[in-house]
Amino acid sequence: MTQRELFLRHVAQTSDLPMSGFDVNITHAEGCTLYDATGKQYLDLISGISVSSIGHCHPRVVEAVQSQSSRFMHLMVYGEFNQSPQVRYGRMLASLLPPSLHSVFFTTGGSEAVEGAVKLAKRATGRHEVIYFNKAYHGSTTGALSAMGDEDLKKPFRPLLPGFRQLRYNDSGMLGEITNDTAAVLIEPVQGEAGVVRAEKDFIHALRRRCDETGTLLIFDEIQTGFGRTGTLFAFHQFGIAPDVLLIAKAMGGGMPVGAFVSSASLMQHLARNPALGHINTFGGNAVCVAAAEACLDVIVAEKLWEKARIIERQISEQLRHPLIREIRLTGALGAIEFGDEALNMKVIRACLERGLITDWFLFCPTAMRIAPPLVITAQELQQALRIVVSVLDEIA
Ligand code: PMP
Repeated sequence: MTQRELFLRHVAQTSDLPMSGFDVNITHAEGCTLYDATGKQYLDLISGISVSSIGHCHPRVVEAVQSQSSRFMHLMVYGEFNQSPQVRYGRMLASLLPPSLHSVFFTTGGSEAVEGAVKLAKRATGRHEVIYFNKAYHGSTTGALSAMGDEDLKKPFRPLLPGFRQLRYNDSGMLGEITNDTAAVLIEPVQGEAGVVRAEKDFIHALRRRCDETGTLLIFDEIQTGFGRTGTLFAFHQFGIAPDVLLIAKAMGGGMPVGAFVSSASLMQHLARNPALGHINTFGGNAVCVAAAEACLDVIVAEKLWEKARIIERQISEQLRHPLIREIRLTGALGAIEFGDEALNMKVIRACLERGLITDWFLFCPTAMRIAPPLVITAQELQQALRIVVSVLDEIA
């Protein structure tokens, strides 16, 4: 059997895209470039969906992984032992966040951070209603799926969790639906899978006020927008408010699997009492993953990569123009190139891949191409990527 045949047989697929020629067999990756088994190079314009913000195999992360894995990897289930990588990371992250966000519960990824935060809100408020928004994506596990703002993906898996209600994103008129029965509002400050849709500042302020009035926890899902992607360390920094709970993952680990929900110690203690062990896991906060996250955050802060995100935004908006492009939505280095045509978008994405440029579409916006390069991409690399997109569009036009 060929490698491709083995891949299709033994690695479970959740779409038929690899079968139609989208499988790429990468042997190694460095910075913004991936190399396949034939030696072909691919420039990464999406960072494995907003993960590789400091580039692939960053030497600081590689060093941290090697060094920590030779000391200890796994010791005990979550929270039982005082592990120095977790303590150092929690302290460093807290120093970059508002004072109320200082207690970190480490998870293995994004969906689990959503699950933990929803459970925390239920315990802290004694309520069970959760509000989310249309076209929201919070993950694929049952709880996170209950907060997905798209019925097509949810329907086959119903019944999901009770008490989840959907409101319209950016519609302040609906905020009266948040009441004294609402445990939490779960929101992406910039919706990723909707195709980069930014929350309006007035809406976020009204939402913060309404949550304060009703004693509802405001949970910001920054799993995709975090760690500099949108032009500030976290997108919430642009709104002048703080959430009660912050969800992070993806770019956090510099390529290693780690996530977290972050809140205050006084809120978090609700998971420690009545019952104790209110949320536990085996691998959350794995020492090697957290050591990688520590190195990654060090790099992001030292190089002020959120500023690079704004430079990337400027370069894309200045250099990417084509009659086939209807609109470019950009928030820092998170961008959607809107063609208004799904077939055209897929054609462009495929042609870019053939020419060694990795892009993608959005789950709830298949008419737009995703641009979310590593924040360390150079102006030359980005120019080269944009030239490929334009030449593909020229050919199609
Ligand atoms: N929330 C958002 C905003 C996301 O973009 C994602 C992943 N695309 C998730 C949650 C789920 O994260 P994970 O895939 O790590 O479970």
